Amino acid sequence: MKRVAIVGGGITGLAAAFVLHRARQEGKPVDYFLIEKEQRVGGKILTEEIDGFVIEGGPDCFVSEKPGVFNLSRMVGIEDRIMGSSDAARRTFVLSGGRLLELPEGLMSLVPTKIIPFALSPLISWPGKIRMAMDFFIPPKKDDSDETLASFVRRRLGQEALDKIAEPLIGGVHASDPEKMSLKATFPRFLQMEKEYGSLIRAMLAAKKRAEAYARKNPPAPGAKKKTFFMTFIKGMGELPEAVYAKLDRERVVLGQTVTGLLVREEGGKKVYTLAWGEGQKGDFDAVILALPADEAAVLMEKVDRQIAENLAAIPMASSATISLAWRKEDLPVKLESYGFVVPLVEKRRIMATTFSSCKWAHRTPGKDFVLLRAFVGGARNQHLVELGDKELLQLVREELADILGITKEPYLYRIYRWPRGMPQYVLGHLERLGRVEERLRDFPGLYIVGGSYRGVGIPDCINAGITAAEKALV
Ligand SMILES: Cc1cc2nc3c(=O)[nH]c(=O)nc-3n(C[C@H](O)[C@H](O)[C@H](O)COP(=O)(O)OP(=O)(O)OC[C@H]3O[C@@H](n4cnc5c(N)ncnc54)[C@H](O)[C@@H]3O)c2cc1C
Repeated sequence: MKRVAIVGGGITGLAAAFVLHRARQEGKPVDYFLIEKEQRVGGKILTEEIDGFVIEGGPDCFVSEKPGVFNLSRMVGIEDRIMGSSDAARRTFVLSGGRLLELPEGLMSLVPTKIIPFALSPLISWPGKIRMAMDFFIPPKKDDSDETLASFVRRRLGQEALDKIAEPLIGGVHASDPEKMSLKATFPRFLQMEKEYGSLIRAMLAAKKRAEAYARKNPPAPGAKKKTFFMTFIKGMGELPEAVYAKLDRERVVLGQTVTGLLVREEGGKKVYTLAWGEGQKGDFDAVILALPADEAAVLMEKVDRQIAENLAAIPMASSATISLAWRKEDLPVKLESYGFVVPLVEKRRIMATTFSSCKWAHRTPGKDFVLLRAFVGGARNQHLVELGDKELLQLVREELADILGITKEPYLYRIYRWPRGMPQYVLGHLERLGRVEERLRDFPGLYIVGGSYRGVGIPDCINAGITAAEKALV
């Protein structure tokens, strides 16, 4: 019987545990054991239902382009709980010179694919628009070296596109500084588009054409749910970890206990891993999946391999906080009818973005008389703000929302969630660092280090990484 331990009950560890659980049910000679330090599973996925409000502390959606969430949801029987974003409010604003300006319709990732809305948009100046259009003529980079997201966008689309679109939309989502983000580690697709089409705009137009042709050929089945770019679950992202946890054997999942030690020894030509957790518990395992953020994995790797530990510890992590606030509609001076707004760094504000959660998603409030908003604070360049006390943090968000949206009334309800060191930063050199870790891991068969810190921060990538590690552990 192969014994596999999973350290960490975030979505990566849960996905791994489920694969092992299913293999066991199918009669494979495997036993699994998941240890999670908190009293709940889910890690960064944290949904609370408070007075009928569905409040997301961490992620509030996933990208539907990647199959990970659909696959895991199908495996645990909750695929029908997935829902798309609300069509009616499908607009996003950018704060520009203190005013909220709409992102032009047809903007795909970074580039415009519809000429008229882009030409009419006041968001980018005319010189900025002309500079963006030069993407058609600028030759692709010749060598294969990595560069930062900022350098790539500046090179292809110009500084204004970086400041007003790429930094707030992309840097903000990753809570990262585009001047440091590795393009190869975060958006390899952009590089590939540049190589293949010689222009990002041309590549996006081709992708749009392909998607339209596909949609024409494959119309959705009658009654089928519409796929939107971002999707979630009816009662929030927390449905997914809960559903996976419900499938696992209770006696094989330990909550509220921290793994404090990992040692390795050789026995009969094989590696045996010893884990220590809780108050002096110990166990030997044939395989260990560390489904932990890099800094926490680094601590456990100290006694196994110093160089792996050092490489993991060198992955920078940024802190952020989400602050959800609810109001009665009648208390707002404005009607909220969009997904929200992002705030470029050049605006020098203390919030990165605000999602109008109750406009973007159905079922977020106890009724139509309420609205729910969610502001983001922190990120690579403003981490210190996360250390503020609750009162100050709330005050800060209220001041910004008063200034930007004119909301001055006390919120009906609010919740603050801090994520200290919660966002791994894929900076230049990230892939080389992972390469060094993976090279050394070859000396430790049965040991896997996976999760959001490594090869994809999004939930679908995490699920994929967890599943792949479990499948390897089964061999
Ligand atoms: C504010 C915020 C918003 C986000 N929004 C989105 C989004 O909208 N869409 C999206 O796709 N992604 C989003 N992400 C990223 C995504 O949430 C994460 O990348 C993903 O959830 C990470 O999952 P994980 O299982 O790898 O790690 P984690 O969720 O960090 O899980 C690791 C688990 O290990 C446990 N642990 C740590 N050390 C030990 C130990 N020594 N012993 C035992 N247990 C331990 C922790 O308690 C935790 O439960 C967001 C992240 C944040 C912080």
